[in-house]
Amino acid sequence: MIDRNGPVNKDDGKQYDGLTEWSLTWDYQLKRRGKVWIVSGRSVLLDIKVLTPRWTDFQNTPGALRTKWRIYRANLLRHEEGHVKIALRAAEAIDKYLGVCGASLSLDKLKSDIEKNTTALLLQYRKIDQGYDRRTRHGATQGVTLKRRPAN
Ligand SMILES: [Zn+2]
Repeated sequence: MIDRNGPVNKDDGKQYDGLTEWSLTWDYQLKRRGKVWIVSGRSVLLDIKVLTPRWTDFQNTPGALRTKWRIYRANLLRHEEGHVKIALRAAEAIDKYLGVCGASLSLDKLKSDIEKNTTALLLQYRKIDQGYDRRTRHGATQGVTLKRRPAN
C-alpha cells in the first residue's frame, strides 16, 4: 500500500514512504552609504512540506499491527525531521551571509558576489540533504521499514 502510493522524490524519481520538500528564496535591498554599497535589508523565506502516510481505519486494526505502525511512523517522522533541520540550517546560513557580506564600491560587484555566494550556499545544503538520505538509506538505518524479518 505504502509502496504504491508513496510520494515521488524529484531528485531520483523514486517513490518513498515519506518526503520532505523545501524551497528557499531570499531577497535583499542595497543602499549607498558614503562611497560604498551595503545590504540595508534582507528577508529569507523557507517553504517546507513534509509528506507522510496515514493509516485509514486505524481503530479497527489489530493491536500488534498498530504498535508496529506507530513505531514505524515515529521513525519516519524522525527521519523527515532531519531534512527539516537541514533546511532550517540552510535558511540560517543564507540569512547570516546576507547580514555580514559587507560593503563594496561597486554595486555590480556586490550584486554578483551575493548571487554567487548565496547560490553556492544553497547548493552546499542541497548536497548535505542528499547525503543525509544516502547515509541513512532514506531512513532505513533509522528504523523506517515495515518489512518483517524472514522466518527461519
Ligand atoms: Zn529522506
